[in-house]
Amino acid sequence: MKVYISADLEGVTGATHWDETEKLKPDYSEFREQMTAEVTAACEGALQAGSTEIWVKDAHSTARNLIASRLPREVRLIRGWSGHPFSMVQELDENFQALLMIGYHSWAGSAANPLAHTVSGKIAGLKINGCNASELHMYAYAAALVNVPLVFVSGDKGICEEATLLVPNISTLAVKQGSGNATVNIHPHLAVERIRDGVQAALQRDVSKCRLPRPEHFTVDITYKDHAMARKASFFPGAVSTDPHTIQFKSNDYFEVLRLFAFVL
Ligand SMILES: [Zn+2]
Repeated sequence: MKVYISADLEGVTGATHWDETEKLKPDYSEFREQMTAEVTAACEGALQAGSTEIWVKDAHSTARNLIASRLPREVRLIRGWSGHPFSMVQELDENFQALLMIGYHSWAGSAANPLAHTVSGKIAGLKINGCNASELHMYAYAAALVNVPLVFVSGDKGICEEATLLVPNISTLAVKQGSGNATVNIHPHLAVERIRDGVQAALQRDVSKCRLPRPEHFTVDITYKDHAMARKASFFPGAVSTDPHTIQFKSNDYFEVLRLFAFVL
């Protein structure tokens, strides 16, 4: 079984403030360690479930956070950003049997995590077919393009709830809950244990039940914090301005939606 793990940082247990997510800040190292520990646990769970090959995408900020030497030897680690519209799931293709997301977080506009955002800090909200959409939502549909099921997510409670609405059979693990600018977290070691066990159990189930149906049509609405950014994005081919802060884009081809995201988020 070939497994793909996409890893972010704002959804690991403990992470609460932007200083803890930025490479050059003193607070960062503790959370880089925790991100690495949670991803390592997911890899170990996948190996226990019989995975033979695991690709990991470091998908936070610089995409140079995970401490490679701590990951199991079966891992291929993707660092940095290629510019491909698959972005947080770069290199995912039909040869993978399962996609897992670790350290994922709630969408821009959500109150479920003080670090809630979608891709950049530029946008106030993103909707796909009328639903508030997170990075999980964006790249779950990318996985659907190559027919790979999304089987497991760990992160804040909000992202776990959103994931279950999108993929009812997904296994989720909430490692924290947001409250204003605060978070209530489970212990870092407990998060690691539960991720290892949860990933193993998720991969031992019928993963095909976690395949996301692909809508025939996509309508995307993106609302920017800054009206000038909305105006610039409205010039993307096919995009239209719907109010001073919002653009809308429609397509039957989700790859075209991902192309939009790559240029305007
Ligand atoms: Zn991130």
